[in-house]
Amino acid sequence: MYIGVDLGGTNIAVGLVDENSVLKYHKSTPTRAERGSEEVIKDIIGLINETIRDYGISKENIKAIGIGVPGIADPTSGEVIYCVNLGWNNIPLKETLETELSIPVFVDNDATVAGLAEYKIGAMKDCESGVFITLGTGVGGGIVINGRVRSGFNGVGAEIGHMIVGENFYDCNCGRNGCLETFASSTALIKYTEKLINEGKETSIVRKVKGNLEEVNGKVIFEAAIEGDYVANKAVDRLVKYLAIGITNIINILDPETIALGGGLSGAGEFLLKKVQKEVEAVRYMKMMPIGKIVLATLGNEAGIIGAAALGM
Ligand SMILES: [Zn+2]
Repeated sequence: MYIGVDLGGTNIAVGLVDENSVLKYHKSTPTRAERGSEEVIKDIIGLINETIRDYGISKENIKAIGIGVPGIADPTSGEVIYCVNLGWNNIPLKETLETELSIPVFVDNDATVAGLAEYKIGAMKDCESGVFITLGTGVGGGIVINGRVRSGFNGVGAEIGHMIVGENFYDCNCGRNGCLETFASSTALIKYTEKLINEGKETSIVRKVKGNLEEVNGKVIFEAAIEGDYVANKAVDRLVKYLAIGITNIINILDPETIALGGGLSGAGEFLLKKVQKEVEAVRYMKMMPIGKIVLATLGNEAGIIGAAALGM
């Protein structure tokens, strides 16, 4: 058995995963990151021990623990270098957990581990190479080639969300302008939609949220777009345009067998997928050559735990 930990800005989820990457049992607790890293790590250890006890197996049967973190981790030292959501800098996560639990610990970026889960048992199963793109509050990525995660020499590779794809009307959290995340995340979609509304454009979105613009989210915008709303479609098409540039860049560099789209916005399903596939086909290089498939991710939220557990396999 393996343990997977999905450490998020909102929740910590811990699960037991078997050799076939099947999630057998899991539980979670709020992260409450404002308490600082020591308290959060105490909760992770507590939740791991509870999970083992609840499931009724002994600690000796746990071969490894994998953790996906929402930021940059050094996969070799297991140190969390930088996590803006958690306010963590240079936290020795692997070392602390191994000392407390006496089980080998592996740490990597959350989008990378979700990509590994999709590669093991999800949308990229049986592929030679796959790239996973998560379209959520931010945009993250995971690259898996021949069964191995590629996070780069220094652990800062596969940061697909911070690939520059154009010039934008606002800056990225990373301090630069033009990152894919500022065009293709739910945050970006909402920001651009609000911009159009503030410019006085008529839209059914305002009615859908009863005039309360703070309630505009990705789901509402996609719903309106599917119903044919002009503003919603303009916002979705802009997202698709820049996402397609990002995907085309990935294809030019890696030519992966499969690209899987996950995260909250992928809930828009075929409506989004068809637009992305069409736009990539329109802008891609070397049209006389075939390219890999672009598909929807299949695992949803469980990918975080399953992929983290797979780090130790
Ligand atoms: Zn950025």
